[in-house]
Formats: sequence, structure tokens, C-alpha cells
Amino acid sequence: MSDTLAAPQVLRNDFDVEAVRAQFPGLQQEVNGRPLVYLDTAASAQKPQRVIDRLAAFYAHDYANIHRGVYDLSQRASDAHDAARETVRRFLNAAEAKSCIFVRNGTEAMNLVAESFVADRLGPGDAVLITGMEHHANVVPWLRLRERKGIALKVAPLTDDGALDLDAFTALLNEPDTKFVGVSWVSNALGTVNPVKEIVRRAHERGVPVMVDACQAAQHIAIDVQDLDCDFLAFSGHKVYGPSGVGVLYGKIAHLEAMPPYQTGGDMILSVSYDEVVWNELPYKFEAGTPDIAGAVGLGEAIDFLTELGIEDVARHEAEVMAYALERLAEVPGLHMVGNAPERCSVLSFVVDGAHPHDIGTLLDLDGIAIRAGFHCAQPTIEAMGHPGTVRASIGLYTTKGDIDRLVDSLKRVAAMFA
Ligand code: PMP
Repeated sequence: MSDTLAAPQVLRNDFDVEAVRAQFPGLQQEVNGRPLVYLDTAASAQKPQRVIDRLAAFYAHDYANIHRGVYDLSQRASDAHDAARETVRRFLNAAEAKSCIFVRNGTEAMNLVAESFVADRLGPGDAVLITGMEHHANVVPWLRLRERKGIALKVAPLTDDGALDLDAFTALLNEPDTKFVGVSWVSNALGTVNPVKEIVRRAHERGVPVMVDACQAAQHIAIDVQDLDCDFLAFSGHKVYGPSGVGVLYGKIAHLEAMPPYQTGGDMILSVSYDEVVWNELPYKFEAGTPDIAGAVGLGEAIDFLTELGIEDVARHEAEVMAYALERLAEVPGLHMVGNAPERCSVLSFVVDGAHPHDIGTLLDLDGIAIRAGFHCAQPTIEAMGHPGTVRASIGLYTTKGDIDRLVDSLKRVAAMFA
């Protein structure tokens, strides 16, 4: 990411943001009488027309339940679902499609790891290590295991600018009771990009498995799970321009084979009697019940959209808009960035003197600008930075410098009201 941030002034001809925007019907609307400026992509991304069309076509022509039918339509639906899994495999550069489990979202992926991998292996005297910038989805499962299983939770501190204190993290990692690491690749509250490859390397030197929360990374950074060598990686479909209701857990095959199922019922068994159950093979062991079939197909379409645009070009465009936004936000009187890590992407978290983040959010909405206000599901992080919440504007592949101009104009008016 540092390369992309180092060259924000380079004008690119091959990423036509207006042509990209034209593919998003959700962006072509007015809100409160103004053209919508959508700066909440970190919470959920708008959907390109081709994803919407794919969902509609699948439901209209190819829909049936998968894996069960002997009839043509069910076979077609199964093939489309399998193809989506293969698309996910390519997206992550996983060696095998069966290491990619479809789940509901990133939250479910991380709960699955907590329950099926960590809960049975760790107990009193063992600790899970996370960072001080985790989303609640990588905090609360460990608090529950602490209560139920007596494991400890260690939290690596951040520097004042919201970067991970890697030395402090490593010191905690070196403690003999540290048995598992969960770390976000990109913080949804601060935008900090963590050195996940180095973290995995250091953890593996000590035999400690690592789960990477890629919910804010998959839409901005090319992922190669083999190169990263992480044990688990989670992301959500709705943040990568796909449908809500579907996400992915990648896991190393050896771990997934050894783990008990997360949920039980239909599809995740090979045979059942009242005396004995034989679990299904991967990935089905972890996909109990009828999944979000169309959601997976739509996610495959979204990944194709993203990879055809080129994730490096997307990242370069977003870094340009980010650099412009940082420059322009500095013009707003009383505005303070929360999190200024040298490696960051997409997320701009800030406060304005005298104004509560929720009031700012409401006033910006009146100008047709959608941002997020509050803790961003990272309450301990925001509180540790000394704030009762922040305003968060987040950049996606369709964000323009014009969007940032509208944000800055509105913020100047808001700042004047509270000055
Ligand atoms: N981790 C991070 C870093 C996130 O930003 C989010 C979503 N805000 C999640 C996990 C949880 O994702 P979901 O709500 O899709 O389960």
C-alpha cells in the first residue's frame, strides 16, 4: 500500500471512475433534494448493475435447491454455486476450492473459527491475542470463550496515530501462553493497514495460528492466502460489491479437516442413524442447511467485476481520492483526524470540535451525504483514542474527488454552526 500512497498525484487514464459509477444504479439518485454522495462503503458497498442482473437472472431461470436434486434445474443451480466457489478460490489464490467455506458474513466466519477451532483446543492458562483496532466480530467471540472456557484475551496496543505497536504485539506474542492470533488486515474504524504477512511470519515462528479479518481488505488489496500463509481468513460479500447474506471463511485444509462442525443438520452429513453421524467432506461439513445460493452466485459476479476492473487499479484510484480527501479535510476548522497511521486505506475517521458525530451525520444527510457516525462496531478502539464516537467517511471504487468536495463544503458549514 505504501507505493500507492506515495504516488497519489499520478493521473491515470485507465481507471474511468465516471464509467464505473454509471454501473451503480444506487448512486444515480437524489437524497434530500441533492445528488447522493455515498461515503459509507466500508459499512456496505453499493451494487453494480451486473450483480443485480445476475441475481435476477439466477432466480428467474436457474433457481432450485442445490446438491439434492436429480433433475436438470437443481444441477444447473449446483453448477452455478460450485462456479462461485471456484471464483472465490481464484480471488484468494487458495490452492483448493474446498478450503473456501460459504458463510453468512465475516462475523459468522470468525465465530466459526472461535467455536470450532479455538474453543476445544484452548482453556485456562491459554490466551488469544488480538490488536487494539479490532471490529467487535473479532473481540466478542473471545470474550464469550473467556467466560465459558477460561481463556485469556490479550490486546496489543496502538501507537498514538492508530498504527499497531508491532514491538508490543511481538512481546505479547512471545509470551508462552499466547496460542492464537486474530488480526484485522485493515481497521474499519481507523483505516490502518496492518502488516499481516509479517504478523503471520512471526506467529508461525512460534507455532501460533493466525486468523486474518479481511472484511475491510478484500475490496482494496489483492489477496494471496498461500503467500500470506494465514491459517484462516474471513471476508463479507456485501463489502466487495456483492449481495448481503453471504461471506467466506478460508481455512487451511488440515485445520478444517480436524475441526468439528459449527452447525449441524442437513447437507453437512454423509450418513445419519440414531446411533451415529458421519460428517460430510469439505467444504460441506461447514455448510449446514440451505445456504444463500443466489448470494454466492452474486458474490461470484461481484468478484469477477472487481477483478476485471483490476484491484491494483482500484487501490490506486482510492489512494488518489484518499490523498485528496486528507488534503481538503485539513481546510475544515476544528476537524481532527482520528487515526493517522502511515499505512492506511479507504477510511477517514474524524471529529469536529464542539459537534457530536451523530449531529454531524444528521446534518450531512440533509445535504445528501451518507457517512457513518459512532463507534463503527469498534467501541474499545474509539474509546481508547479518547472519543465518544467519530464521523467516518469511507472511500470505494466509485468515490470521486467531487464527492470529497461536497463533503468538505458541508463540513465547513457544520463546523461554523458549532464553532
Ligand atoms: N471486521 C471488519 C473489519 C469489519 O469492517 C466488519 C464489518 N463492519 C466486520 C468484521 C463484520 O462484517 P459483517 O458485518 O459483514 O459480518
